[in-house]
Amino acid sequence: MTGGRADVATISLLGGHLALDFANTIEDRTGDHPEDTLRSTDDLRRWGVRVAALDDTATAAPQELARALALRAHLLELLAALTEDRPLALRDTDALADAAANAYANGRLVPAADGVLGWSWDPSHLATVRHTVAVTALDLLSGPMSSRIHRCANPDCGWYVLDTSKNASRRWCSMAGCGNLAKTRRRRLDRPAR
Ligand SMILES: [Zn+2]
Repeated sequence: MTGGRADVATISLLGGHLALDFANTIEDRTGDHPEDTLRSTDDLRRWGVRVAALDDTATAAPQELARALALRAHLLELLAALTEDRPLALRDTDALADAAANAYANGRLVPAADGVLGWSWDPSHLATVRHTVAVTALDLLSGPMSSRIHRCANPDCGWYVLDTSKNASRRWCSMAGCGNLAKTRRRRLDRPAR
């Protein structure tokens, strides 16, 4: 998707999974003009508030941006390898293991209303974004849904989505965005040259 300077406040959250949405914080990631929406610690904070990992009291922690971006880079490598049927690199699986271990060490097990236990982190700590992403990414990549992760078919997009359709037919991150773009391109190609 193109147009304007991408921002965490408006970037689409349509990966179908929090870890994928975090990986998708770069717009047009594989195109000529990628736009990273996580440009500052405050961007990271705003993204965390948007996905309800943080509350309004969360403050910027300067060292946290680099840590979160490092986790995102490893996550993107893992997603690329997974969707291209390549072996996962040890440096990426080790990094995810470290991030998850760090998350568990800093988290609490809290029962939800139905009594089911889930991991929980302090919503006023910026590191909670990284912890939440690490644990949800591990959940996703180590579970049966990992085979339903697809890369958007628009080569410039680079976003990953969870295909939960019955017949595994989700090709685009969004039909309205990349799906339409492809249709327009196809129409252009179909038109006879003059
Ligand atoms: Zn797309």
